[in-house]
Amino acid sequence: MLVVQKFGGSSVADAERVFNVARVVTDKYSEGNDVIVVVSAQGDTTDELIEKAREINPDASRREMDMLLSSGEQISIALLAMAIEKLGFPVISLLGWQAGFQTNSVYSAARIKRIQTERIQNELDKKNIVVVAGFQGINRFGDVTTLGRGGSDTSAVALAAALHADICQIYTDVDGVYTADPRKVKNAFKLDEITYDEMLELATLGAQVLNNRSVEMAKKYNVEIEVLSSLKRVPGTMVKEAAKMEKMLIKSVAKDTNVARIMIVGVPDEPGVAFQIFSRVAKAHINVDIILQSVGRDGTKDITFTVAADKGAEAVETLREYIERVGAQNISYDTGVAKISIVGAGMETHEGVAARMFEVLGDAGINIQMISTSEIKVSVLIDEAQADRAVQVVHAAFFEDSLAL
Ligand code: ADP
Ligand code: ASP
Ligand code: MG
Repeated sequence: MLVVQKFGGSSVADAERVFNVARVVTDKYSEGNDVIVVVSAQGDTTDELIEKAREINPDASRREMDMLLSSGEQISIALLAMAIEKLGFPVISLLGWQAGFQTNSVYSAARIKRIQTERIQNELDKKNIVVVAGFQGINRFGDVTTLGRGGSDTSAVALAAALHADICQIYTDVDGVYTADPRKVKNAFKLDEITYDEMLELATLGAQVLNNRSVEMAKKYNVEIEVLSSLKRVPGTMVKEAAKMEKMLIKSVAKDTNVARIMIVGVPDEPGVAFQIFSRVAKAHINVDIILQSVGRDGTKDITFTVAADKGAEAVETLREYIERVGAQNISYDTGVAKISIVGAGMETHEGVAARMFEVLGDAGINIQMISTSEIKVSVLIDEAQADRAVQVVHAAFFEDSLAL
């Protein structure tokens, strides 16, 4: 078998953890498998590097940020390879470019275009364990790029797809995908399986256990992912096309605090206004999530929408000229909000799921500011200060109360 294993930052945080990973990897190799290992930077290295950059130049170019941030993974691949050497196994570490990761040139959010697999293939043929730096690649100018935060998951899945690996194992600090963040909700329990579509929603809605691009890629190339613990040797959660039929309507509750709410008060209530607003936002490459438009009154209406927290100020600036020109009363933004979501393919065929969620939030005195739904999710926007409690009451309603839907 060809196995791709990915280890996140906490799994390689110190020497002891690095040796633990080396043992997991060499055990897999000793069973007769070809093994490719993708690693992230140790512990909080990436955050620390960002802080170092801020001290020098808060407006540093993205190219130089990538040059800096990619160094974290260079350290961890070398250390892990040294640990594997010490255990007496053949190993080689490779940076992103050496492993053939070619990306576009969007520094700090680069997309993988192709992986030139010859080098890795050669190393595997020589029976080496191949340790690859996650999160990084090279563009057509020969510059180092990074894939965006959490991007090592995507590096691993991309390698598994390109090399037709039998499985992609994502090792992390929890032993699978849970019904809610197990660090926040005590009664959350581990799922045996989850579908790509459900996992993609969950990842996009704030469950950082897998990066959403990695799930998108896994679905596209049909790569089976197993999410499991690097410390506890127990079965994890399988992410795949069709999970077995279960009675569970809802698979998990997610929280996303990376949200800004933009409020525009008093735009003219006439055709074309929504287009004028959202085309400007799109041109600025700002992704819009939930949109709410009020009923018109006195010839005006209000439009509220959400974007990623760090795009709030930019969205307001992008719109200011238009808002002033059409004589709207006010535009402002607020990052003290959170999005709480429930995800599950089962809700598609069951009415009442959304109502149940709204009911328990209402009973808990939590006000819903905005709502958005799709076939397999319901999201609500609430006050950030109430977010953790909201996750708890929603989790309790769907997973801890046997009388619940
Ligand atoms: P890594 O460094 O290994 O990439 P991350 O910190 O990116 O790990 O992701 C793992 C974290 O995801 C867990 O520690 C957990 O707190 C969080 N998480 C959020 N939602 C979930 C969920 N539904 N199931 C499991 N973990 C979750
Ligand atoms: N080290 C990078 C980050 O912290 C990539 C990753 O961990 O996946 O975002
Ligand atoms: Mg991660």
